[in-house]
Amino acid sequence: MLAYGAGGNTVTLDMQEMRHCEACNQDRSFSVVLQYRYWGFDWIFNFLTMRKYVMRCDVCENGLELDRKTVEAKLDGVPIPFIHRYGMLTLLELIALLLIWVA
Ligand SMILES: [Zn+2]
Repeated sequence: MLAYGAGGNTVTLDMQEMRHCEACNQDRSFSVVLQYRYWGFDWIFNFLTMRKYVMRCDVCENGLELDRKTVEAKLDGVPIPFIHRYGMLTLLELIALLLIWVA
């Protein structure tokens, strides 16, 4: 049976800096985290529905959203598993190949 649903994940990136936290009212270490959500069939054929980068206080988790292009320019690659990102695209390619093969 085909199951469908949404999922999400938070990935802490290796990007940290010290800055003043308004919520803690102290200097704290902040980490950049990637938050994303996906939707798909059978937990394999997915596509992303939301992706954002947040600079977050390591103590209170108060943070601010960062510009996606600026963050991704500093990364070697987007740290989202292939299956969460392009699973649905893979399924569509398989269907297209099947249709070509049948025709
Ligand atoms: Zn804080």
